[in-house]
Amino acid sequence: MLRVAVIGAGAAGLCVARHILSRLNVFAPPVVFELSENIGGTWCYDERVGTCDIGRLIHSSMYRDLRTNLPKEVMMFPDFPFDSQLSSFLPHQEVQNYLRQYCEEHHIRPHIRFNTAVEKVTPVVTTTEGDKVRTTWEVTSSDSSGGQRTETFDSVFVCSGHYSDPHIPNIPGIKNFKGKVLHSHDYKYAEPFSGQSVVVLGAKASGLDISIELANVGAQVILSHGNARLTFPLPSGIQQSAVVKAVDEDGNICFQDGSVASADVLMFCTGYNFRYPFLDASQLGLDIQDHLVSPMYLFMMPPAFPSLFFIGICKIICPFPHFNCQVQFALAVLDGRVTLPPASQMKDEAQRQLRSRLDQGVQQRHLLVLDQDQWEYCNTLARIANFTPLPPVVRSLYEETWRQRRIHPQNYRKLNYRLVSVTQWELIN
Ligand code: FAD
Repeated sequence: MLRVAVIGAGAAGLCVARHILSRLNVFAPPVVFELSENIGGTWCYDERVGTCDIGRLIHSSMYRDLRTNLPKEVMMFPDFPFDSQLSSFLPHQEVQNYLRQYCEEHHIRPHIRFNTAVEKVTPVVTTTEGDKVRTTWEVTSSDSSGGQRTETFDSVFVCSGHYSDPHIPNIPGIKNFKGKVLHSHDYKYAEPFSGQSVVVLGAKASGLDISIELANVGAQVILSHGNARLTFPLPSGIQQSAVVKAVDEDGNICFQDGSVASADVLMFCTGYNFRYPFLDASQLGLDIQDHLVSPMYLFMMPPAFPSLFFIGICKIICPFPHFNCQVQFALAVLDGRVTLPPASQMKDEAQRQLRSRLDQGVQQRHLLVLDQDQWEYCNTLARIANFTPLPPVVRSLYEETWRQRRIHPQNYRKLNYRLVSVTQWELIN
């Protein structure tokens, strides 16, 4: 029986546990380590900022009024639909309910060790008869009473998420800024910003949504970003500007186009860093930077240690369906249905893939953005490991949602959809 450790009981970790529990002929029941007292990770809204009672950083970057940016019809795990009575775009509480139901339906909860943080994961390489190399994993965890324990597993799934460690760009002179500086990780709701002038740096999903929330309570927002000027209608309280360059000696914010503004608040919506404090990157042959983990074979495994799986490190994906594909692939590797190439070949391939993305002009910090490539990626995993690929309707409705989002960022969440078949969806309002 293969013993698997799962780090994190968010959507990815629950998905791993669900699939292991359906293959108990090969796998022992999983051990899921979860540092908080809840399942759901990102979807556990926590009003506190900074650290919690026992000194841990707050994990979730959820804000009070967030509604999903994907309709439930594509957001769901393909084998576990959301409640059909719910609207398509859901408040975050409904996603947490959904994950609770998933957990109950698949009897996962008894296998989760809550309030238990994984502190160290170490590979132990042994050579067995016939010069075969075998890797096992020592996982050291500590519970809320401080008790430490080290156990051995055949495989480890890293499902600890990557939206918790705020990325803050270096802004020369920031110490001169006299107002409040915060990252979207610590943004909870808009009311405290009513009547204030706020510079929001970054116009991706959170930057745009938060700017709209702020403008709706009467804040004056300068949305600073380096993309082409957004052409869709924005609330009148939002003005676009170039990227923030520096803060001058008087505490004014200077933008790259030469304009200057004073503000009460500077809010970074500048994304998150990859952070795996329980791993020794060099021991694993990995380079872990703010925006990149490399080389990773199939965006999932360090080539030298293909029994360590990272679920969901890619960005701009359809998360739950993507996790579901990666997990099925990883389990097929572990139970021998998929044979991987030799480590050197996996490393070459992973490096070649990154180089070709760089050659196509992809910036270093976007190398893990899959976007359009996610569908071919998921299909490839399904083909190699021989599981049912994602139904084409997932892609089609996902792309329609993005299209609507670009045209009506304030209103696309009012739409409701229904899946008609594996290839077709329809709009029902
Ligand atoms: P997480 O949900 O972050 O879970 C990781 C878990 O690991 C946590 O419970 C954490 O406590 C635990 N953990 C971490 N370190 C340790 C450790 N050392 N030991 C033990 N446990 C540990 N996706 C969508 O599909 N639709 C959306 O609308 C959407 N909106 C989003 C909005 C925001 C603000 C953010 C930040 C993300 C959003 N996402 C959305 C993406 C979302 O992150 C994924 O959908 C998904 O929830 C990520 O799941 P995960 O399991 O990978 O990570």
